[in-house]
Amino acid sequence: MKKTIIAIDGPVASGKSSVGEKVAARVGCKFLDTGLMYRAVAWLSGELGVETSDARGLKDLAADMEITIRGARILVDGEDVSTLLRRKTVEARSSLVATIPDVRKTLVAKQQAMAAGGGIVMVGRDIGTVVLPNAPLKIYLDAPISERARRRHQELVERTPNVLEQDVFRDLEERDKTDSERKASPLQPADDAIVIDTGELSLDNVVDIVVDLIPDES
Ligand code: C5P
Repeated sequence: MKKTIIAIDGPVASGKSSVGEKVAARVGCKFLDTGLMYRAVAWLSGELGVETSDARGLKDLAADMEITIRGARILVDGEDVSTLLRRKTVEARSSLVATIPDVRKTLVAKQQAMAAGGGIVMVGRDIGTVVLPNAPLKIYLDAPISERARRRHQELVERTPNVLEQDVFRDLEERDKTDSERKASPLQPADDAIVIDTGELSLDNVVDIVVDLIPDES
């Protein structure tokens, strides 16, 4: 098993999770999609009636919440909530809870603990800049918003047939704005990240490019 650490960041639907999961499988590393952790805080706070304005309550909830990640599945306090976390309401709320510095600090500490010992591909918005600033390979995936909306729409219509691409486009625009303009760890490439525009590349093309970039010694 590889001991390397690979940080992958990028905006919504840039291909991070699909690429990260495949790279991890190819090189024999663990995979962690940190977006699921923000979604978990969003979901659980909604269930428990903790308001998005209650920074202290959200931080405590993030600290106490027991998260188990198994590939693309996530258990919160023992319950498999993977499907619930994909809900639109949870998605919109996740960007809001992610603006709260104490929530971020709490989740970042958990993410760093999960990366201790190496052998991990971690994806998110701040992995190369904040969570794993010493990662030997940092990738920032991007693609034009029209292409990202097209991809996300394709995924969504399988579950919700009448979802409109223009609505998906608007949601993406809003989440891009919240993620890039927030004060706490805004979405941006690390100075030493390799930026890949996935707009005209297939998933396998991107996976090949990332695997080829893994430093030999890791
Ligand atoms: O990646 P995903 O869309 O599942 O992430 C949900 C939300 O969590 C994002 O819109 C973003 O606001 C937040 N997030 C973050 N930092 C991360 C991962 C996700 O702020 N490392």
